[in-house]
Amino acid sequence: MNTKVKKLLLILAPFALLYLFCLPRQLFKAPQSAVLTASDGTLLGARISSDGQWYFPPADSVPAKFARSIICYEDKRFRRHIGIDFLSAGRAVVQNVRSRRVVSGASTITMQVIRLSRPDKPRNLFEKLWEAVLATRLELRCSKDEILLLYASNAPFGGNVVGLEAAAWRYFGRSAGELSWAESAMLAVLPNAPAMIHPGRNRAELLRKRNFLLDKLEAGGVIDHDECLLAKDEPLPDKPLPMPDGAYHLLERSRSASGGMVRSTIDYKLQERVAAIARNHFQSYHTNLVDNMGILVADVHDGRVLAYFGNTRGFAAGLRGTDVDMIPAARSSGSTLKPLLYAAMLQRGDILPGSLVKDTPYNYNNFSPHNFDRSFDGAVPADEVIQRSLNVPSVRMLEQYGAPEFLTLLRSLGFTTIDKDADHYGLSLILGGAEISLHTLVRAYYRMAAKLSGDRISRDLRWSEDSKGGWLKPGDVPLDEGAIWLTFNALSEANRPEEEASWMDFISSGRIAWKTGTSWGCRDAWSVGVSGDYVVGVWVGNSDGEGRAGMTGVSYAAPVMFDVFAALPPGGWFEMPVRELTQMELCHESGLPVNGLCPHRDTVWVPDVDKRPDPCPYHKLVHLDAEGRYLVNSDCYPVEDMRTEVRFVLPPAQEWYYQKKHLDYRPLPPKHPRFDAASASGRNPIAIIYPQPGVTIVATRGLDGQMKGAVCRAAHTDPSATLYWHLDDEYLGETTGEHEMLVVPAPGAHRLTLMDSQGAVKSVLFYGK
Ligand SMILES: [Zn+2]
Repeated sequence: MNTKVKKLLLILAPFALLYLFCLPRQLFKAPQSAVLTASDGTLLGARISSDGQWYFPPADSVPAKFARSIICYEDKRFRRHIGIDFLSAGRAVVQNVRSRRVVSGASTITMQVIRLSRPDKPRNLFEKLWEAVLATRLELRCSKDEILLLYASNAPFGGNVVGLEAAAWRYFGRSAGELSWAESAMLAVLPNAPAMIHPGRNRAELLRKRNFLLDKLEAGGVIDHDECLLAKDEPLPDKPLPMPDGAYHLLERSRSASGGMVRSTIDYKLQERVAAIARNHFQSYHTNLVDNMGILVADVHDGRVLAYFGNTRGFAAGLRGTDVDMIPAARSSGSTLKPLLYAAMLQRGDILPGSLVKDTPYNYNNFSPHNFDRSFDGAVPADEVIQRSLNVPSVRMLEQYGAPEFLTLLRSLGFTTIDKDADHYGLSLILGGAEISLHTLVRAYYRMAAKLSGDRISRDLRWSEDSKGGWLKPGDVPLDEGAIWLTFNALSEANRPEEEASWMDFISSGRIAWKTGTSWGCRDAWSVGVSGDYVVGVWVGNSDGEGRAGMTGVSYAAPVMFDVFAALPPGGWFEMPVRELTQMELCHESGLPVNGLCPHRDTVWVPDVDKRPDPCPYHKLVHLDAEGRYLVNSDCYPVEDMRTEVRFVLPPAQEWYYQKKHLDYRPLPPKHPRFDAASASGRNPIAIIYPQPGVTIVATRGLDGQMKGAVCRAAHTDPSATLYWHLDDEYLGETTGEHEMLVVPAPGAHRLTLMDSQGAVKSVLFYGK
């Protein structure tokens, strides 16, 4: 190589290197606004950046109308030059020299991008020349569209508004892609003199410049004459609009301190509908001083959260705690976990869908639950236990299944807030003793529904495509499809008792499996429902935990949930997972495997598992005398005269309650007088000491104004026995050791009935006065 050329290269090399590295990799470093969009890109909400700007993260592209407007106004030859427009630069030099002052800057859009990225630099000739050099370097790095996007995303639009998208929402309440020609033109002239947006004389100048640009667009053939006239008729916007705030709590939950864009899975239209439904119900709840609500809607097929309503923020003045996001808030579960226990017991073969569960007074370590209506059924089918949300049988079921095993199941279904051990919760775990959140509740029902919907592998519940929702593996839901299907089936309104259905006439949106819950003291009202396509969860209450009389899951949360289902497209229902089920012949009365004597049999789909409950113990052969008045045996009655019948016989304690609600139940007749002649075992272990039969108890008003009745007393042959007291049909309470109970009778005849846990019953008739 020629030495002169080598010398020249040596001299030029540093300049080449300088040119190569002169432009920083990241041009703009200002903190961004936090922006949340719906799944279709619609803006749900935004927060001002940490340095006080409305500065949105860059969009994907520049809308065509703004692109044509800005090129027409600022840089006609933008598509053709290399960062510097020599023609207009030359003209500018001539103009400036002639008038002896700067009248024309001749800055290209590329040069303006460079200048915007160097806000602290001085304005002088050297800086101007250096910006021109940097502009040519930027042209080598980026395409024309990318440069235009850099400009649109970072140009000032007056006040604290930076970037086209923020400006479009701030001034027009719409995305930049939806702006008219007049609106796009106004925004195109604004960065050149951003102060023009402020009210006052500036506005006339802004209008003049906008119309000047519209004329240029017409002259350039971009818009026609009529379009131009119509556009010029459009007024300028008034004062800046507030940013949309359609998912306040989700934005707060998902945004990071440094701002940025979160593209959520929210369905924009549904989110609006859900908020409207919440507002509609809020009006009446508010009059009962119930102020807060949370609603979560998810897609069964892919785990996307479609609506996230965190609270009643802005619904009325002076509301308490509406900034609290009720979706992750930990609250008492009420009865919402009962169906999961039912599913788990079906799965393990402990119960069958309608097998009888004992429903009599229960006491263990001073834990004595009662049903909502304070009555007992004696024996009740398991599916009715979850449909009617009976507490006492649920406690017995949990005792049988095992609280530690149930906790393991709950955790694998995603109940992360249930983090103590089984001893901490005890059996009240099934009655609301543990805390859940609307998020974990909906996630658990979603995971079951997802498994049932047949997708082998699906995504977990999530509200953003970026969030680490993870993938669900088949082993993550430790319930078989058969048990889940039977549980949803039992919870679907098609199988609910009639008395609950009176207010559900308006439901036309297909089949829904649903469960409500109410926590102690009416502090939390829950409802969760599943169709073949959607999961909807609702919580109603006060975020500070104040309970309100009458606020139950059925009356407050369920109506909201059904309104949300009605706003969704009608959902399908799950296909029966035939592979996971098998048919079995069950006793019609007990729901248990038939024992050979059971007279009425049903063929029922049950989970295909190995373990089964014992066969029906209730249908048995009984021997009666010829008239059917006594139970007899061969010691006390001639065998040839005996009548032998198959009868449905419950144990005494269960029978006592059962026959009150089942008028067709035929209790066994008493034993023949000579039946137990040989043994003394027939003696009743309960003795009533006071009152004696026929006694009159006078209820008087004491000095303190309280009614005073009489203390009734009883004894039991077993000193550790517990006695359950009933006055007429009302359960009074229970005693252990000392058997004393205050009774305040109304005037008239009364029956005092005592029962022990073995089913022995003793009663006495007395009078009140
Ligand atoms: Zn039977």
